[in-house]
Amino acid sequence: MSLADALAQARHMGLDALDAQLLLLHLLGRADDRAWLRAHDTDALPPSVAPAWQELCRRRLAGEPVAYLVGRKEFFGLPLAVDARVLVPRPDTETLVEWALELHGPAPLKAVDLGTGSGAIALALQHARPAWEVWAVDASAQALTVARTNATQLALPVRFHQGDWLSSLPGPFDLIVSNPPYIAEGYDHLPALRHEPQSALVSGRDGLDDLRKIIGQATTRLVPGGWLLLEHGHDQSAAVHTLLKAAGLAQVCSRQDLAGIVRCTGARLPSPMDNKPLTQG
Ligand code: GLN
Repeated sequence: MSLADALAQARHMGLDALDAQLLLLHLLGRADDRAWLRAHDTDALPPSVAPAWQELCRRRLAGEPVAYLVGRKEFFGLPLAVDARVLVPRPDTETLVEWALELHGPAPLKAVDLGTGSGAIALALQHARPAWEVWAVDASAQALTVARTNATQLALPVRFHQGDWLSSLPGPFDLIVSNPPYIAEGYDHLPALRHEPQSALVSGRDGLDDLRKIIGQATTRLVPGGWLLLEHGHDQSAAVHTLLKAAGLAQVCSRQDLAGIVRCTGARLPSPMDNKPLTQG
């Protein structure tokens, strides 16, 4: 059987064409090199990998994310190792990183990523801003193991901490970012995400339990003028606006994700300097 035959067989089984290519390249030790596959599609599928190929196709059809099957996912240009201990980083979350980088340049500051999972946000920030002191928090020891491995692999000096959001982490921080769990219990979309850690996805009856906790804690951990940037569900921006304002935060505003959905909302802790007139001369 040729590589083209193997791909056709996978398509016939119901696999997405791109997924099939990525899985086959992974098996052949040529991660993501689709140009190579195009040039070699008449090569024979090595008989030694045929059983593993069948197994990968079967697992993909059963809903396992490609990222888990190949053990990696790119986020903000960084290759991250991922497995079922962490949520697969989504391209939509890059919006949060871009926003944080727009707010602050290279000057040293203290930032924290809450619910870091694979370490995606913290590592992207640390990579782009080497002088920042970047912290990454997760409640899951297993997730922190994955995140630490990624930091070591990328030689990035992110500081890791196991805890319940900010409760055991001394501040203050100039910037707090988080992609917390925000899906409501029982939401229709959840079965499609059954292979990912539910603790990273589900947050109470309305999906807002963790966002409420984070917003409550952030007001006591931000420097005056510091920003809190949050990812949330497609229908939660109004609720998050209300929570941020009720917590006394100002300049509440939102950003869209790649699909044009309002996906991130941020706000700033007011500073006594805000109302001071600029001194003249
Ligand atoms: N964006 C993810 C999804 O809907 C959820 C991520 C999260 O809960 N933080 O698939």
